[in-house]
Amino acid sequence: MEERRRMLAELLRLQGVIRSEKVMQAFLKVPREEFVLPEYRDEAYEDHPLPILKGQTISAPHMCAIMCEAAEIERGDTVLEVGTGSGYQAALCAEIVSPTGEPLEGVVLTVEVVAELARFARDNLKRTKYYDRVHLVVADGSCGSPVRENFRFKRILVTAAAPTIPPPLIEQLDENGSLVIPVGPRWHQLLVAVRKKREGLVREPITYCIFVALRGKYGYDDCN
Ligand code: SAH
Repeated sequence: MEERRRMLAELLRLQGVIRSEKVMQAFLKVPREEFVLPEYRDEAYEDHPLPILKGQTISAPHMCAIMCEAAEIERGDTVLEVGTGSGYQAALCAEIVSPTGEPLEGVVLTVEVVAELARFARDNLKRTKYYDRVHLVVADGSCGSPVRENFRFKRILVTAAAPTIPPPLIEQLDENGSLVIPVGPRWHQLLVAVRKKREGLVREPITYCIFVALRGKYGYDDCN
């Protein structure tokens, strides 16, 4: 807990990263050390990405915060995350949409394409008691949620870089909802927040970033 407070204090010093009480609370609650590999436990509260399995990474804490804030996730929201990885970002989202874990609050659906990572995330989410607030599915999330395809999500987070915004994700976004996604060439992207308004899509650039590659139908051609 001490380490988590120290990480939060550091994040609060970085201007514009954490702007709301709910994101602050989520960072205090979710134990990041339970989402990293055992050999990186001592670095769990450092502000940088860490390797997980299969060449993937758990994003740096500041990036996880920026994504939650940019998507404007609120209590009660339904969130789709593409790219479960360790499950940490999904747990942060669960803490925001359903801080008490009561039924009828918000829920998170997270999609992971690599079965081994999905197993890793499932174990992490079960151990930390987030598994009832997070539904995990193994599928190509570049095509959106494979369950209840007509469902519209209030918030969509993509935690892998995409060459362009996958059209199914726009389709599955609720009106007035927001989608946050790193878009651009393989080695440098712009994190963008896309809001779906009645008059059309409104894009807001958030920050430059580097994410691991999105695979699947709307991923990079050479990453499948
Ligand atoms: N959000 C994660 C970090 C994700 S790393 C965390 O908090 O730890 C990106 C993840 O996206 C990797 O696990 C990778 O396997 C997954 N991924 C890549 N392409 C995908 C796709 N098309 N559908 C679902 N997951 C994908």
